[in-house]
Amino acid sequence: MNKPLHKALLPGSVVNGQPATLGVMGGGQLGRMFVHAAQAMGYFTAVLDPDTASPAGLVSHHHIQTDYLDEQGLAQLMQRCAAITTEFENVPAPALVTLGAHRPVAPAAEAVAIAQDRAAEKAHFVHCGVPVAPHAVIATPAQLAAVGEDLLPGILKTARMGYDGKGQIRVKTRDELAAAWDQLKNVPCVLEKMLPLKAECSVIVARGADGQMVHFPVQLNLHREGILAVTTVNEGAVPADLAAQAVAATRAIAEGIHYVGVLCVEFFILEGGQLVVNEMAPRPHNSGHYTLDACDQSQFDLQVSTLAGLPLTQPRQHSPAIMLNLLGDLWPEGGAPAWDAVLALPGTHLHLYGKLSARPGRKMGHLNITGATPEAVRATALQAAALLGIEAF
Ligand code: ATP
Ligand code: MG
Repeated sequence: MNKPLHKALLPGSVVNGQPATLGVMGGGQLGRMFVHAAQAMGYFTAVLDPDTASPAGLVSHHHIQTDYLDEQGLAQLMQRCAAITTEFENVPAPALVTLGAHRPVAPAAEAVAIAQDRAAEKAHFVHCGVPVAPHAVIATPAQLAAVGEDLLPGILKTARMGYDGKGQIRVKTRDELAAAWDQLKNVPCVLEKMLPLKAECSVIVARGADGQMVHFPVQLNLHREGILAVTTVNEGAVPADLAAQAVAATRAIAEGIHYVGVLCVEFFILEGGQLVVNEMAPRPHNSGHYTLDACDQSQFDLQVSTLAGLPLTQPRQHSPAIMLNLLGDLWPEGGAPAWDAVLALPGTHLHLYGKLSARPGRKMGHLNITGATPEAVRATALQAAALLGIEAF
């Protein structure tokens, strides 16, 4: 069971002779933006990540450079921090269990464990009454043989450790399915029926330990090659009835596991207009980065508030927004993209994560575009995309 936070950890307070410090497992860009938000409010921060040059470690007061399961590393993190969160879902659940025995940890190990396993995650969605893609768990040769024809063509996804479309193979026939499962080394997988997608969207909620919950507007997401490319958020981007359904489903999914922290749920909108849940991320999400510039509180601000036990107020989007994901593909050899030209466009906000080497597919940063109207934002975003070499959308 998770150690509860008995009272709010007030910013700027002193706890056992130490400045109020928040910790994060993982030092990637999400951890970095959490650290920025926490520090803006006056908290000290500690990051645990083995990478000496991790984006969050570079900007944190403390950087503990050990493996996630290293007992001394975890002990140091607990010694420094009054409460601890996580920034990626593949943090080993046992590490969160250890931390949770001594410190408030949000989200709790149990919630992260569900999100780490596609089979458990789907079972939770079904339990909450939210429609999922037709699917089957394949963990044994017998389960492989028993797969119904109705699931083909489909996508075979490893049950654990997938991200950005990695660990997924599209299959059309039984033979292809058998070969794909071999290629994935026969680890437990979920076969999902390939659905006709009209669009994809996501919802981010923040829920406090007292059960209070707030949410951001529904985000319309465009993926390219399994990676988020563009997020558009303005009234009407997702039809109002579907948006309301997606928010209600996300709230039910969070409520159903007594979730504490920031949770993102991704959905498919099918050609026929139905909403189907895809997966959840127990942390802030790439599709929520527009909140940094378009909302009066960002998803990272809310991560800080839920962790510290501060009151939650409903965030308000004050500008229509588009986010362009900036992948390493955009970097010219030994140089940088033409930021001077991009930043000459009004309403552009550049966020880079401090990663020194740009590799194809690597998330280097994002560009938020805000403006007075959705049309103005889109026009600017298309101009920026053209300057950067991002395909029009
Ligand atoms: P991430 O965690 O980075 O979001 P992931 O590796 O967990 O990605 P998914 O979200 O499962 O991958 O799938 C990536 C993309 O592949 C989806 O956003 C969607 O565009 C497409 N996709 C996945 N499952 C299906 C499906 N059943 N039918 C049609 N398209 C799908
Ligand atoms: Mg996904």
